[in-house]
Amino acid sequence: MTSKELMELDQQYVMNTYGRFPVAIDHGKGATLYGPEGDKYIDFTSGIGVNSLGYGNEDWAKAIYEQALKLGHMSNLYYTEPCVKLAKTLCERSGMSCAFFGNSGAEANEGMIKLARKYSFDKYGEGRSTIITLVNSFHGRTITTLNATGQDVFHNYFFPFTEGFRYAEPENIADLIQKSDKDVCAVMLEVIQGEGGVQPLSKEYVQTVADLCKKNDWLLLIDEVQTGIGRTGSLFAFQDYGIQPDVVSFAKGIAGGLPMGGFLAAEHVRGVLSAGTHASTFGGNPMASAAALKVLETLNEDFLVKVQAKGEYMVKQFAAMGSPHIAGVRGKGLMIGLQLTGMNNAELCKNLMARGVLTLTAGQNVLRLLPPLTISLEEIDEGIEIIKGLLGN
Ligand SMILES: *Cc1c(COP(=O)(O)O)cnc(C)c1O
Repeated sequence: MTSKELMELDQQYVMNTYGRFPVAIDHGKGATLYGPEGDKYIDFTSGIGVNSLGYGNEDWAKAIYEQALKLGHMSNLYYTEPCVKLAKTLCERSGMSCAFFGNSGAEANEGMIKLARKYSFDKYGEGRSTIITLVNSFHGRTITTLNATGQDVFHNYFFPFTEGFRYAEPENIADLIQKSDKDVCAVMLEVIQGEGGVQPLSKEYVQTVADLCKKNDWLLLIDEVQTGIGRTGSLFAFQDYGIQPDVVSFAKGIAGGLPMGGFLAAEHVRGVLSAGTHASTFGGNPMASAAALKVLETLNEDFLVKVQAKGEYMVKQFAAMGSPHIAGVRGKGLMIGLQLTGMNNAELCKNLMARGVLTLTAGQNVLRLLPPLTISLEEIDEGIEIIKGLLGN
């Protein structure tokens, strides 16, 4: 099918909920993508932080293929090996105690919210169900996670939303204390706000929030749907903050492209969601779990050090451009945000696409880069050269 035919069919038969770019993607290898007409793109998006092992990864494809031949799906009424192994690996590498698996980031966060509310209900009874989230956060698109998201643009049309969220200014402990009351059961945050514009929280702020949570018996819920699974150069971004969350969610990169999400709970809250209180038909699906195991096997310590190094290299290249349009470079590992000035991020993103590099936008005029974690230095250089052509001096 040509790009033109494909776009026409999409317009007609797929619900137009996405403002798609006029670009079709057919296949890829490494961090390079190709359209149906052979047009080539360096990918600095990973399908929004998903394709952690890049495209055409044979080990990943084989893991899925072999599992598909053996057992493609089984209900959670029975035990299956890939799911068990995955939970064990995730817990051992994160210091958490047990895992719940679902299919997406929003579903993962919904589960964390349920856990926090039930924890509080079991211990204190009703009236203690409010969760503090941060201004400019993003937690998902369901009726509950939209309202958990601390951006007013998401609080439209779909009333009534799930109640029980209050938004505190990031980096402002006084504001968080002022917004908290006897009705609070948890604080939920991204240690680096992704959709909000690649905004890292300071160690000091996150540690103070963690202390407040302990003191008040609020659960600390960390949303690592975007930052988790190697994106920032550690398996979870919280591991660089000197904290241990009560619950941490993940999704996007976990299975390298198959739909999977979930959350990990600490020992003292592992029993909160008791049998019958939470479930997901596809959760821990054997194929998704086999893919995720391959991702985690690939993301060993050496690999993560390389992710950090590649990120630092990219940040250096952007600094060296001396571009009048780059007001700042933020982020960690391969989660990078360029704060633009005097140039619109969406326009730049479109212009870069036309020149053969895919990028993302975020927050207030930020160009966001989330390349596959396996991207080569050659691909990085090729992409950066194109960006330099539009942003450089
Ligand atoms: C993408 C994202 C979500 C939502 O994930 P979906 O899989 O689209 O539901 C939630 N939280 C954060 C931090 C995200 O980046």
